[in-house]
Amino acid sequence: VFTFDNTYARDLTGLYAAALPDPAPRPRLIALNLDLAAELGIDPTLLRAEAADLLSGARLPDGAEPIAQAYAGHQFGGLSPQLGDGRALLLGELIDQHGRRRDLQLKGSGRTPFSRGGDGKAALGPMLREYVIGEAMHALGIPTTRALAVVATGQPVRREGMLPGAVLARVAASHLRVGTFEYFAIREDYDRLRRLLDYALDRHYPDVDRTQPALALLTAVRDAQAKLVARWMGVGFIHGVMNTDNVTISGETIDYGPCAFMDDHAPSTVFSSIDHGGRYAYGNQPAIMAWNLSRLAISLLPLVEGEHDEAVAQAQAVLDGFAGAYQTAWQEELGAKLGLTAFREGDGALLREFMTVLEAGKPDHTLTFRHLATAARGDDGPLLALFDDETALRAWLPGWRARLSHDGRPEERAAAMDAVNPLYVPRNHKVEEALTAASEADDLGPFGALLEAVSQPFTEREGLEAFAGPASAAFTTCYKTFCGT
Ligand code: AMP
Ligand code: MG
Repeated sequence: VFTFDNTYARDLTGLYAAALPDPAPRPRLIALNLDLAAELGIDPTLLRAEAADLLSGARLPDGAEPIAQAYAGHQFGGLSPQLGDGRALLLGELIDQHGRRRDLQLKGSGRTPFSRGGDGKAALGPMLREYVIGEAMHALGIPTTRALAVVATGQPVRREGMLPGAVLARVAASHLRVGTFEYFAIREDYDRLRRLLDYALDRHYPDVDRTQPALALLTAVRDAQAKLVARWMGVGFIHGVMNTDNVTISGETIDYGPCAFMDDHAPSTVFSSIDHGGRYAYGNQPAIMAWNLSRLAISLLPLVEGEHDEAVAQAQAVLDGFAGAYQTAWQEELGAKLGLTAFREGDGALLREFMTVLEAGKPDHTLTFRHLATAARGDDGPLLALFDDETALRAWLPGWRARLSHDGRPEERAAAMDAVNPLYVPRNHKVEEALTAASEADDLGPFGALLEAVSQPFTEREGLEAFAGPASAAFTTCYKTFCGT
């Protein structure tokens, strides 16, 4: 079914532990991503027949070399020196139809040498959550890991109560994290750190200048993550647990735990039940990413050539570039959302003022941007209706209109806005409804309907009205997400 070529297992001995998945007693295929299978060049008929066994750990695919990767991480600002794949195994690497190398990993497949006190398992609900939110992100054009399948194991897992167990088969550009570098840096294992650096550059950034390899990687990851976070901010996505072990070297979004899309726009929005201080609130995400990159910089410092003080200054200069990289990416993101095709003098103020209007009015994030296109077509009604107090918005609109008139033809402009401002995002109440039906009633209907809506987020379709609107205020004010571990 799969043609593996396992460079991590082959080239990075000492950076992982070999381990075997627990065989699932009664594997049952719950969700299969045929779109992704096609991208990976996998025969769909064969995959459908074999997925329950091969993607649950019931049977190992030919050529798989299951390993648990070592990593550390800063969790909520504090160092955890030993994390690693405690409930996941990398089966191996595949080359997709575009020639890109992709990891195939099982998540929830049992204990590994990195499991610490955990059971190594996963519950069905959180794995379906990762599936649907990852697909939504992909359809939004945001770099992300993706689910190839979810297989129910037939074995319950103990959480707050007993829940159906499942394994997620995850595909990623790689599973290298900031925390992977931290693991070897804090152990002062510079030989392995150096091999990791070379591997990461070869795999993700083969074209960058390598005069200073450590600084080259830091710069590349900085720019990839600045762009990624700008995309999150644009769609109102809150990752929820931006620990350094959940920040990839590739620039893909990874580890959909307590993540959520924000309804009403408010920078302080937090959904995660464990984020008491709001460290990972919507509005903090760019600053937190900068902090996470500083942990990568510290880890790479021993590999920066030259005197210590000089190395620190150079790494600091790369980090200082994050603010500008993010600002550029954010202006591009927000500019496109507002219908501007190119950046002009004065646009910075227009964008900033719009964010002030949003922060004061707290309207529904997704619908506000969507209805801007309606306003660009001449009807301000739906947009104004999202605001309790319209004063600030009314004051902003004429300047935006005047600016738009310099930029392309009206209908083309509105269509371009519809192509970047989604109508359907995985709203929390719809996600909860889908997961509850799947795990409590074995009903995959709502999950399938949600997946279909968010897989074409920009195209308005009849019958999907329920996916386009916010939940009741009562739901929104008390909504909490859990890590699901
Ligand atoms: P996460 O919060 O999912 O990013 O996980 C943080 C760390 O906890 C990682 O090292 C995971 O492998 C580990 N972990 C999470 N859940 C479990 C579990 N049920 N059993 C073992 N390890 C786990
Ligand atoms: Mg994680």
